[in-house]
Parts: sequence; structure tokens; C-alpha cells
Amino acid sequence: MVRTRWLRSEFVPFDEMTALTDDGTGVRTSQGSTFKLPPEHRPQVARALAPPIPTGRPTDDAEALSAYVSGWWSPTRAADALLSSAARAGASDVHLEDSGGHIDARFRIAGAMVPFLCLQLADGRRLTAALKHRAGCLPYRSDLVQEGRIPRDGVAADVRASFMPTALGERVALRLFGRLMQLPELGLDDAQHAELTGMLAHDSGLVLVAGPSGGGKTTTVYAALAHICALRGGAHLSIEDPVEQRLRLAGIPVDQVELDPVRGLTAEAALRGALRQDVDVVALSEVRLPSEAQLALQAAHTGRLVVAGLHAGSVTEARRRLLDLLSRTETGADEAIVDDTLRGVLHQRLVAMPCPEGPGCGPDCTTCFGARQRLRPRATTWTPRSP
Ligand SMILES: [Zn+2]
Repeated sequence: MVRTRWLRSEFVPFDEMTALTDDGTGVRTSQGSTFKLPPEHRPQVARALAPPIPTGRPTDDAEALSAYVSGWWSPTRAADALLSSAARAGASDVHLEDSGGHIDARFRIAGAMVPFLCLQLADGRRLTAALKHRAGCLPYRSDLVQEGRIPRDGVAADVRASFMPTALGERVALRLFGRLMQLPELGLDDAQHAELTGMLAHDSGLVLVAGPSGGGKTTTVYAALAHICALRGGAHLSIEDPVEQRLRLAGIPVDQVELDPVRGLTAEAALRGALRQDVDVVALSEVRLPSEAQLALQAAHTGRLVVAGLHAGSVTEARRRLLDLLSRTETGADEAIVDDTLRGVLHQRLVAMPCPEGPGCGPDCTTCFGARQRLRPRATTWTPRSP
């Protein structure tokens, strides 16, 4: 029998306890009060307040987490440990699937689904409830589609959480956004890197980052913003759906706007705002609609540098798609303005390569963390020929 609460004169959930007192005879709570602990409960409470520290070796982490939830445990701390394990293993997503008999936790690493942990139903459901609580969702409702964000201490990237009722229980998907990268880390060859920095050196114009969804466009847009900020001052605004990393927390002076179409904050409204906000650099995570393309081009044509993501299969398709979007606006597509404004296109996608460890690769491989493959960026650049 697993307990999360320790009874004194009232129930104090482990999640509300912050730490043992220095002499170990009591426990402090987040409300600032201190409770005395009966000696026989001290070891279990100490254990519940100290979840395993992730090592990055999935097998070890899974074993430690299973052992942790087999005694007195704090679901919130276990949820954080799960997220840290996933981050250490380089996972992009964590999936929790309720099969009606138990709950499977799997990581998506380098595009492959890797089994991580199998929890008993009651434990798994409590972990799910803790994740909902952390994400600002309703922990007691498992019959709703819910979405939220889990902030993580000391990490500029939140985790996006999504909860979905299924026939047997509930499905949880957690998206861990990648870490911030610098331009040289993007895996571009020297010529591509030079072309991209050339595009970003312009004071105004449009730079398109094209590729399929999940191809790392936002990573590149962030790296580009960091590069521009380091290069020169000015006012920078990034319009995102959703905000993946809080750039100011990471020391990059960029204001971020998160779109919220329900409340009227569409990409179009944000771009119109940006035109009146006297900003020098505007980033847009993805151009989707004709009106957005038109406003992005207008901003780029009137003295701002606009870096925008675009869903396209190649560099040539990116230009075609931009013209196609523009042709569906009232003003229409003016090829001369596009060619005058477009500073360049970077197209990128991620390609799965077999793990370089070869026969030495296994579930605890430190190169691929059991995914047996790695994703490598593959990029192409295009810039207009100099006149
Ligand atoms: Zn490997």
C-alpha cells in the first residue's frame, strides 16, 4: 500500500512538504509551517522527499523511478523526475498510455519510440494526476481533452502537456522542447553557415526558414535570433505558436508573443501590432495564412528584418509557396517585390541515421539512448544572385 500523505493532526501531502528540518526530526511545508515527525516515519518521509536523480541511462532511471513509486512517494516529484529523465535522454516527447491494466511510459528519442517504464494502474494514474496539476489542468477530470504547460525550474523551456480520454483510460503526451542552439551547432556546412549569416546580416528583408513540421524550424529561428542579438542591438519581437523557450530567461533580449486565436491574438493581429511597435527584427514561427504572408512581406519591405518559418518541401518550393499565399490576398503577388525583399531561404529537415555505435548499441547506449538511430539535420540554402 502506497501512501502519499503522512497523518499527524491533519493530512499533509508530500507535495506540500519542502524538506526535512536540519536535525531531521521534522518537516517544513511550502506554507512555512513545520511539523514534528514521529521517529518511525522519518526514513519513509525522507525517502519520499528525495526522488531519484536522473542519470541519463534510461534503464537505470526507469529502475530507480519504479523503486521510488513502490514506497512512500510524492507524485509531483516523480513527475519532475520523469521529465528530467526524458530530458537527460534527449527525448522530444514522453507518452503515457493507459492500457486499463497498467500504464506504459515511452520516450520518443531521435524519432523512435523507446519503452521506458511500466507502472501499476493506480501509481500511473496518480502520476498522470500530478502531471495535470503541474500543467495547470484539472487533475480529477480524465474525461476531457486538456492542454497545459509545465514550467521547469532553471530551464527556459516549458513542457507542453496534452491529456486525452481513451476507451481504456487516458493518454498523456508531453512535448519537451529542444535546448537553445547557436548557429554553429545547427549542423550546417561551412558554405551554408556563411550563406545564412549573410542573410541575417541584412538590416531589412525576409529570411525564410523552410521545412516540414518537426524539422527543427523553430530551433533555427531561435538560433538566428540569438545570432542577430549578439551581432547588433535593436528591438526584437518573436511571434510564436506556441512559445517553446522563454528567450529572456536564456539571456536573449527578445520579446515573445504567444498566439491565442480564441482571444483574438492571431498571427495577423500580432504582425499588425509589430508594424506599429517600432521593432527592427520580427520573427514568426510559421507563416500559414495569406494575410500573414502579406504582412510579413510588408514588414520586411518597410525596413525590418523578418525571419519566418514556412512549411515547404524545398528552397524553390518555399518561394513558390510564398507567392502562392500572396496571390490569395487582395494586393496579390508582386514577384518584383518578393525578389527585392527575399534575402534567402534555408530549407532543413531531419534525417534518421543508424546509431554510429553500430554493434555496440543497446538499450543503454549513451549515444542514442536506446533509439538505435540519430537524427541529423540536412539543409539547403538559397540566396538571390548578386545583381
Ligand atoms: Zn546507440
